[in-house]
Amino acid sequence: MTTEFRLAIGAALRQDRVRGNIRRAMDGLVTKRREAFPDPQERESLRDEGAAIRAESVARLPELLEELERTCTGNGIQVHWAETGADANQIVLGILRAAGANAILKGKSMVSEEMGLNEFLQRQGIEALETDLGEIIIQLAHEAPSHIIAPAIHKDRAEVAALFRKHFPDQPPAQQIEELTALARTVMRERFRGMTAGLSGVNFAVAETGTLCLVENEGNGRLCTTLPDVHIAVMGIEKVVARLDQVPTLLTLLTRSATGQPITTYVNMISGPRRAGEKDGPTAVHLILLDNGRSRIHADPELSATLRCIRCAACMNHCPVYARLGGHAYGTVYPGPIGSILEPQLQGLAVRGEMAEASSLCGACAEVCPVRIPIPRLLNRLRYEAVSTRAASPTLGHGSRRLVVQSGIWRLWSWTCAHPRAYRALTRLLGLLRRLQPTRLPPWTDTREAPRLAPESLHRQARAAGFSDRA
Ligand code: SF4
Repeated sequence: MTTEFRLAIGAALRQDRVRGNIRRAMDGLVTKRREAFPDPQERESLRDEGAAIRAESVARLPELLEELERTCTGNGIQVHWAETGADANQIVLGILRAAGANAILKGKSMVSEEMGLNEFLQRQGIEALETDLGEIIIQLAHEAPSHIIAPAIHKDRAEVAALFRKHFPDQPPAQQIEELTALARTVMRERFRGMTAGLSGVNFAVAETGTLCLVENEGNGRLCTTLPDVHIAVMGIEKVVARLDQVPTLLTLLTRSATGQPITTYVNMISGPRRAGEKDGPTAVHLILLDNGRSRIHADPELSATLRCIRCAACMNHCPVYARLGGHAYGTVYPGPIGSILEPQLQGLAVRGEMAEASSLCGACAEVCPVRIPIPRLLNRLRYEAVSTRAASPTLGHGSRRLVVQSGIWRLWSWTCAHPRAYRALTRLLGLLRRLQPTRLPPWTDTREAPRLAPESLHRQARAAGFSDRA
């Protein structure tokens, strides 16, 4: 692991308050998910259905995206394609400039985090006002989200109350969750009036009908998508699904897996700008389709399963590593198990390959994933890609973590295991020299005791006990 990642892990482990907040929140979400799926048979058949829908979407991705562009355009939605996050930012900027907007109302969107949109707009003198309560909290605290569905999950009520007291000193102090929510609503909603442009994410985009589906609990998404004249929706290209009748299954899986709710408070189905005779809604809707490395992931038949993800965060909530570290330790937009397979592929193994190593491979993530992404298998595959010399791999940075000494040792070991005489001679020799064995083998022994070699190999001990080599 890189020193930077190790230091971040060390720092996260020392933050007892944050760890306590995350632990409590994770326990709550795990319990709610369990209660939301009381019937294991129903749960497993829903997961089969969800996995099949998402597998079909990924398999037909290029064709569905073309259909989506056609149907959206037919509905009056202006479709833009962005190769990178920087391209997507420029598209947003162009739309805002054309609309004469110097501020934007934002709904929660992980893709906009991936683009670094807020920082980019700030550099252009445009203010991005978050509307999701969790996003407002972390924006006031100048922090990054630590969880993909609950960005401020690492903060407790007292911390949020102190933050609000600091930023809104002329408001009556709030302590209870209801009071804090009401305070945020009062203060922020005043600022939201008269905004020209709003931006949201997309949970699913339906190719068949050109419909953008957006789920949320606070009504803030609806605020962003209906109040301003211009609505910009940003989505990763993998969020497309073929048909409208596939959406209910995915919504059921998403909300139950994410927060244990049977359905979210708001389900927005956006199918175009305001039509003649309609009283509200934007007069222009733009859809930005962001690739940012997803086509490369799509090119690998096994790793492309990563693109099935519906961003429910169940894998994170059940991950023992995430629960102990929290999201900030990963230093990436997507933390936890999904981040550990997605980020190394988006940013390359040379930059983020160590994330695939920070896993115990316990398999809890795969057991709960509603669309059955085999995360441990993909982690292993990425570990292999990181040291592989295979020339044809589409994975960015493949082979970049290969160490000559380490690969030499493994080659020697593999040769020895394939030659019984050499194996016996080597284990004999190591047994004799065991007193010279180093007790420290960093970084392994930083957190583990070095295993002691046995004086005699198991093979020799078995033979001495009278067992024969032949059955
Ligand atoms: S990998 Fe699976 S469990 Fe994790 S966020 Fe994606 S869909 Fe949810």
